[in-house]
Amino acid sequence: MSFDTLGLSAELLRAISEQGYNEPTPIQRKAIPVIMQGKDVMAGAQTGTGKTAGFTLPLLQRLSTNPIKNGCRPLRALVLTPTRELAAQVGDSVKTYGRHLPLQSAVVFGGVKINPQIDKLRRGVDILVATPGRLLDHANQKTVDLSQVEILVLDEADRMLDMGFIHDIRKVLALMPANGARQNLLFSATFSAEIKQLAGRLLNNPELIEVARRNTTAEKIAQIVHPVDKNRKRELLSHMIGSNNWRQVLVFTRTKHGANRLAQQLEKDGLSAAAIHGNKSQGARTRALAAFKRGEVRVLVATDIAARGLDIDQLPHVVNFELPNVPEDYVHRIGRTGRAGNKGEAISLVCVDELKLMRDIEQLLKREIPRVVLEGYEPDPSIRAEPIQQGRFGKGQPRTQNATHNRGRSSAKRPFASRGKSGNAPARQQRRTRSGRNQVKAA
Ligand code: AMP
Repeated sequence: MSFDTLGLSAELLRAISEQGYNEPTPIQRKAIPVIMQGKDVMAGAQTGTGKTAGFTLPLLQRLSTNPIKNGCRPLRALVLTPTRELAAQVGDSVKTYGRHLPLQSAVVFGGVKINPQIDKLRRGVDILVATPGRLLDHANQKTVDLSQVEILVLDEADRMLDMGFIHDIRKVLALMPANGARQNLLFSATFSAEIKQLAGRLLNNPELIEVARRNTTAEKIAQIVHPVDKNRKRELLSHMIGSNNWRQVLVFTRTKHGANRLAQQLEKDGLSAAAIHGNKSQGARTRALAAFKRGEVRVLVATDIAARGLDIDQLPHVVNFELPNVPEDYVHRIGRTGRAGNKGEAISLVCVDELKLMRDIEQLLKREIPRVVLEGYEPDPSIRAEPIQQGRFGKGQPRTQNATHNRGRSSAKRPFASRGKSGNAPARQQRRTRSGRNQVKAA
């Protein structure tokens, strides 16, 4: 099937062919016609499936075929994303696919100066990509008007709820035209009860589109577990990168401190490495990502929140240096590889403390991940499991993104951190964390 059959305009088809895309991905095949008809959509699509083009192309098509007549340029489409990186990437996609159309777009997120964003908004934009916190800053300063939004996209809605943005989302919704007067598109990798609740409130008679089974990992990703002692993980990682001559590896740690420390240690091992996490300035994060994409930095060490939305073409290797506390984050993490049909490899270095987390992940995936003990790195059977450390959350810790709007929630109890509780916490406790109420701000 080619893109020509989807009814997209010549300008969009030109931009698609300039990108080198030969055929639509499954999510694009399903979502584009439905969105072009103006229907609400609830789409279950993992990152890497081509979902961004899946909503951006029909959105651009609709805006360009129904132009505003009286010459003014109201904001007509809003895309909300959980992280700055994802906002930047979606913003790039909007520009890329819309480059032959007379539509203006802008991206707004926190951590950078607001004035250039205000200037841009003042000049008039048709499409705005935003993180919720900064968008509300603009709304409060009356530098953005959401009253004429025709199309709303919630991208990675599950992560937005995980990050505690539900109140901000509600405030944004209240600033927009009534539900029936706009088209709503909700994209999420997983469908928790909370997502379904949000969808119930937001969507009108939505078309349900799913391209991969719920909570499953992309099939092109080869997954493997290497059991190894905690204190030998770094050595094993350096060995694997060096001996396999991996040139571009994304490595996940659980905490910001852990990411920094690991990047420094890898540097000492002679591997160029950089860390990205919520305590780094936006500029530092963007620079590290750019250097990684250009191949100047071989290993990018990231926490979950910082890595959300990273789009690095054909990333071949993802390593879980530490398993995430929340099983769904495993799905998000390994979705960084095997994107848009490419092959990828996801490797988890698992120590005895993390066996319960591993079982939870396998339960979610409904499959076992093969375990391979590497020669010379066999785990010491005498080592007993210990509670998993969650990093430091002391006073004076710089706030994470959108913290102004999270203030009430960021002081919420941190069930694992304060008590040094194990990641082997009961499932009920972990679910509470996912709801954002008792969120662990590890990134
Ligand atoms: P996404 O899931 O939207 O983050 O997209 C993942 C990657 O797939 C991005 O690098 C896109 O540029 C790429 N992509 C999107 N659509 C296609 C397509 N039809 N053919 C090939 N690559 C695509």
